Amino acid sequence: MKYPNLFEPLNLGFTQIRNRAIMGSMHTGLEETENGFERMAAYYSERAAGGVGMIITGGIAPNEESGSENHAKLSTEAEADQHKIVTSAVHQKAPDVKICLQILHAGPLARTTASVAPSAIKSPISKFIPNELNTAGVEKQINDHVSCAVLAKKAGYDGVEIIGSAGYLVSSFLVQKTNQRKDEYGGSYENRMRFALEIINRTRQAVGTDFILIFRIAAMDMLQGGMSWEEVVTLAKRIEALGANLISTHFTWHESKVPTIATMVPRAAFTSVTGRLRRELDIPVITSNRINMPDVAEGVLARGDADLVSMARPLLADSDFMLKAREGREDEINTCIACNQACLDHTFSRITSSCLVNPRACHETQLNYLPAKLKKRIAVVGAGPAGLAYATIAAERGHQVTLFDAADEIGGQFNLAKKIPGKEEFYETLRYFRRMIELHSVDLKLGQVVTAEELMGDLFDQVVIATGVVPRKPEIEGINHEKVVLYIDVIKGNKPVGDKVAVIGAGGIGFDVCELISHSGSSGAVDRNVFAREWGIDFNNHPRGGVTGVEPVVAKTDREIWLLQRKVTPVGRGLGLTTGWTHRLSLARRGVKMLNAVEYVKIDDAGLHIRREEKTEILHVDTIVICAGQQSERSLFDTLRDSDLPVELIGGAYKAAELDAKTAIKQASYLAAEV
Ligand code: FAD
Ligand code: NAP
Ligand code: SF4
Repeated sequence: MKYPNLFEPLNLGFTQIRNRAIMGSMHTGLEETENGFERMAAYYSERAAGGVGMIITGGIAPNEESGSENHAKLSTEAEADQHKIVTSAVHQKAPDVKICLQILHAGPLARTTASVAPSAIKSPISKFIPNELNTAGVEKQINDHVSCAVLAKKAGYDGVEIIGSAGYLVSSFLVQKTNQRKDEYGGSYENRMRFALEIINRTRQAVGTDFILIFRIAAMDMLQGGMSWEEVVTLAKRIEALGANLISTHFTWHESKVPTIATMVPRAAFTSVTGRLRRELDIPVITSNRINMPDVAEGVLARGDADLVSMARPLLADSDFMLKAREGREDEINTCIACNQACLDHTFSRITSSCLVNPRACHETQLNYLPAKLKKRIAVVGAGPAGLAYATIAAERGHQVTLFDAADEIGGQFNLAKKIPGKEEFYETLRYFRRMIELHSVDLKLGQVVTAEELMGDLFDQVVIATGVVPRKPEIEGINHEKVVLYIDVIKGNKPVGDKVAVIGAGGIGFDVCELISHSGSSGAVDRNVFAREWGIDFNNHPRGGVTGVEPVVAKTDREIWLLQRKVTPVGRGLGLTTGWTHRLSLARRGVKMLNAVEYVKIDDAGLHIRREEKTEILHVDTIVICAGQQSERSLFDTLRDSDLPVELIGGAYKAAELDAKTAIKQASYLAAEV
């Protein structure tokens, strides 16, 4: 057995978890969607069949005031009956898999005027000032947690997880900055813990001893003035004494200014904190964050950092993660690249979650790759993300697929993305597609610029054009000056970059280019100590929140860099909802100057002439990098469109505006499922 720790069952006394992998809680939006329970049943039971030991559902509110408007709650028998659709599907599919409901009371983060909190203190990330609970109100919230747990048991869940972290209600009682109460729930730490302890104590009394009770603790809350290490340990020990079966460690409040799950976070960066807590407790502990491959999970368990490993996004990306690990097929795992683009960004925009690398996630009842009724000979031109997804899915369904690319490697623009510091996970996606090409016998032809003539005739029944995009060269006077280079040449290292640089275009690629040229040294996965230093985390001494009084130490770039856009909106506004701030902050700390509302006047030997706020100035730069978006590469399609051959256009070749890999892979997957 290659992963002995990962596949060792865990005995909880009255029950057993079949291995050490948990699917962590993640709200997907299915909870509030039409036919959501049927869709959740399919989503979770597919993951249960895929080998995970235990599933924690997305957060469910215990009462009206605990969630945002329309947020799913469990406070009535009728709602419990609906949850039975999920629990029975999971238990039917995999009887030895446990499924627990997460009880999430958003407290001050609930998006409603009815939100409640220990004190009427607005969170920096919320629009609403919460209503301060009186003592009777606190009592009601405790009782609502307990009834929710009782209803969860009736609904067939094996347990509940109570979230005591992230800035939600329970955690807002624990921390002084959000709890200014004068009654027995505020003041001393003993008082501030009371809310959490009462919930655990009364829940245990109400549900009996044969029901899994998990408490999620902010083991390092990443808040200035947050919980001290002693407070974390004290709380965990008291929770343990009250009969919790498991403590799950969490590493953030949502308002924290430290990235904890973005792709720039090193794998398993936080598990040592769990390990330290584990040594203080007798009950098993769960760790999480950026554990996305079996060897990473095994390493964490082997070094004693945790008893169980929680993976949420990696199981969105690949429901068969554990099955593949068990069978030694880890090269077939579709790895989560921690982009957040289709999962958390969707959740926070109230769009049903999915996954950039796996559009089936949360759409299991809608998108399926069934055997093709009529087998076709298909030519796919372009092995970027769109072409790769189309070719491998069509081949999996039984079509005979030939995949061409002009380059000598697959991947298209992903070969540029993977070179950006902090984006190394893109290598995994390319490894996955390479394996799928082999597994489904796609005939791969690299180094071949395909022409229309080669596709005509009787060789193919269907042609798919996935030729992607070419960079846009804006019409600026002097655009052909020798100072001007395209982002492709900068990322590939084909053209030298000077000490003073202007980057035209502040979209995702402009930001990535600035990240690349502002880093000194080589790219490659960031070391955990470097990450801690750059984001001001002290793993060793654990000051309050892990961050209090720790100044981030970022190596300022030796280059002088300007990142420019024409729009008047703040630079970087269009970046990912949950990750954009990390990119903006990272570049600002490196000293990159970001300017909006820029008009490009001309380029000459002196540099880039711009007009801003009605003043003209010259940026005396040596290099001007063009990151001004792209245009579809359709020349092949244009030649073929009037032929008799059925031709389909996908990815960037179909539409360059607002194109990203999520859109490209999704469109290709849906079309390949139908062909
Ligand atoms: P492409 O990736 O452009 O692939 C087209 C392929 O077609 C190429 O390999 C090309 O060689 C081939 N081709 C073209 N013409 C021919 C021909 N005649 N014959 C044979 N082959 C041909 N997106 C995200 O969602 N998230 C990110 O974090 C992200 N980061 C990025 C970072 C960088 C630095 C870059 C450059 C892009 C990034 N993107 C990101 C964008 C994403 O990579 C693109 O949206 C995606 O690659 C588009 O996929 P595609 O398959 O349509 O086209
Ligand atoms: P983009 O996001 O559309 O940005 C293009 C930039 O060029 C904008 O800042 C735009 O801003 C500017 N621009 C457009 N036309 C111009 C012109 N004629 N002259 C001067 N400036 C012009 O595109 P991208 O950066 O090329 O990225 C391509 C895709 O990859 C995007 O969908 C992006 O989301 C995705 N991507 C995502 C990530 C990520 O981390 N999620 C990273 C990289 C790429 P103004 O019009 O205001 O000047
Ligand atoms: Fe992971 Fe990105 Fe998929 Fe979310 S969308 S599960 S972060 S790969």
